[in-house]
Amino acid sequence: MKPEFELSNNPVIAQMSSMDHDQILFCSDNQTGLKAIIAIHDTTLGPALGGTRMWNYDNELEALNDVLRLSRGMTYKNAISDLALGGGKAVIIGDSKTMKSEALFRRFGRFVNSLAGNYITAEDVGISPSDMVWVSKETDHVVGLPGKSGDPSPVTAFGTYMGIKACAKIRYGTDDLAGRKILVQGVGHVGEYLVEHLSKEGAEVFIADIHDDTVSRVAQTYGAKGIELDSVYGLDMDIYAPCALGGTINDTTLPKLKCAIVAGAANNQLGVEDRHGKALLERGILYAPDFAINAGGVINCFSEVEGLSSEWAMGKSEEIYHTIYNIVSRSEKERVPSHIIAMKMAEEKINNGLKK
Ligand code: NAD
Repeated sequence: MKPEFELSNNPVIAQMSSMDHDQILFCSDNQTGLKAIIAIHDTTLGPALGGTRMWNYDNELEALNDVLRLSRGMTYKNAISDLALGGGKAVIIGDSKTMKSEALFRRFGRFVNSLAGNYITAEDVGISPSDMVWVSKETDHVVGLPGKSGDPSPVTAFGTYMGIKACAKIRYGTDDLAGRKILVQGVGHVGEYLVEHLSKEGAEVFIADIHDDTVSRVAQTYGAKGIELDSVYGLDMDIYAPCALGGTINDTTLPKLKCAIVAGAANNQLGVEDRHGKALLERGILYAPDFAINAGGVINCFSEVEGLSSEWAMGKSEEIYHTIYNIVSRSEKERVPSHIIAMKMAEEKINNGLKK
């Protein structure tokens, strides 16, 4: 007799196996209202490290999709950066403005603890350091606490700056950014530090942000030029550095882009990975894969896990120059989109780790 419930037809199991995840923990607690999913994608190179995101998802399947994609991304990010870490991520389903409580985060912390160090958590969108302090009351497997490795943004910005220079070296034969027209979209935590590096080197920096007061302040502090949001994609520029939200490389923006390089800190920059990665290559625009160029943040977290100094984290982030140089030059030579090259390189590192 045919079973009523076929596991292979279950959308959750199908999604989990489509990206080859190791483990998924669905967390639910009626008393605190906690609904969360922790996804461990791969632990070949070490414990899975990746932040916890709190977001008002429309439904559980949407949350599952997000956590599966993000945790796989962490595997690639950690591997390409040569960190002894696997990839994982957690999402808490709910409104970060109204649903937070100490009890909820402590309950979440107990779920993290039940994974016995296979998953190490940190802050992500919608989560503040004080939320993580509550989590840490229940588990040691948390990084990025106040007074520890601190704000990762300066490290992320420095790594991104290194990645931009590597792309410039490939495109222009020099990594000197003096006089280059560079647009930084989003001048928040990472964007502002990036603007500082670029301005110091003498680049002509343009900035855009949804907050006019931030644009005015950053423009004035670093001598950058603020531009209107709707002028971003048509701007005549050498380098476009997305440092706000993901998905800014898409069917609408691509035809307008007038730049030679896309290299910025935002996560998930390609709207549809394969289509838009290929389109950038065909248009002759160099693309620094987001998960490789913005790894400074996780490098900073790793330094906390291993008890390493902030100087070590900055030194390790400097290596992003070589990582991006290798990825992008291989992409140019083989005529394969850079994000695919980067994923292959990360997989090679994982397979080498497996052989050890
Ligand atoms: P943030 O929230 O501090 O800054 C984002 C900025 O973008 C804000 O100033 C916001 O007003 C602006 N913004 C939002 N929508 C915009 C739009 N449509 N156009 C222009 N500006 C817009 O975030 P952050 O920590 O600086 O992170 C920036 C990006 O880098 C994010 O995608 C994040 O996921 C990624 N990232 C950050 C880190 C880190 O260390 N903080 C590490 C890795 C990746």
